[in-house]
Amino acid sequence: MTVRRARWVIGNWKMNGSLAANATLLAGLVTAPRADAARLAVCVPYPYLAQAQAALAQSAVAWGAQDLSAAASGAYTGQVSATMLTEFGASLVLVGHSERRQYNGETSALVAAKAAVALAAGLTPVICVGETLAERDAGRAQVVVAEQLAACADVLRDGGARVVVAYEPVWAIGTGRTASPSEAQAMHAAIRAEIARLGGAAAATSLLYGGSVKASNAAELFAQPDIDGGLIGGASLVAAEFLAIAAAA
Ligand code: PEP
Repeated sequence: MTVRRARWVIGNWKMNGSLAANATLLAGLVTAPRADAARLAVCVPYPYLAQAQAALAQSAVAWGAQDLSAAASGAYTGQVSATMLTEFGASLVLVGHSERRQYNGETSALVAAKAAVALAAGLTPVICVGETLAERDAGRAQVVVAEQLAACADVLRDGGARVVVAYEPVWAIGTGRTASPSEAQAMHAAIRAEIARLGGAAAATSLLYGGSVKASNAAELFAQPDIDGGLIGGASLVAAEFLAIAAAA
């Protein structure tokens, strides 16, 4: 039996934006047709959640955050909880983006705890995994990604098809260098096999590719059998480009 997986195109605005620039971008996104085959979403900086909520409420585009706290509430200065996100109507959240692993020292164990909290609150955790260039050059790419996934085994088992995994090779993020469709497909197939080995809903889990996706290379990447859409950084900041990527999904 063929399992139909949700296709997603998710924008990661990173630490970009202003009220004025976002207003233009969001106004462009609300033109996305509701019947689009892919689920569209944007992950915005916290101060802009209210703006995304107001602009996107009647649209086909979902919104979410780029991180959350592993704690429920309390003395965690600077952190934001899952319930705060759901109060703003967020439906998804990135966890374990390589920039958080790199600049904020997030371990795979912390990433797993965040994903579990997100899941429990009803959010879709988008678990980001990926190897550095040094790890790829050392022939360790699949081992590194398998270790990152193994830390999230409980979440993959408990969340089943509600969990989304984004493969983002660190060397392809914001560099203009994209994994070739066959490189990306090979890793996505390995990820799906690893999710099955860990007891997750492998066939039903949406696996996204991220790393310098543009309108010009999206169709070829998304045509790969194990790639179910994309996590888009830089190209998600221009509505026409983001919607063209969505159309390719
Ligand atoms: C990202 O930050 O998740 C990302 C994929 O960035 P970019 O598309 O700019 O490479």
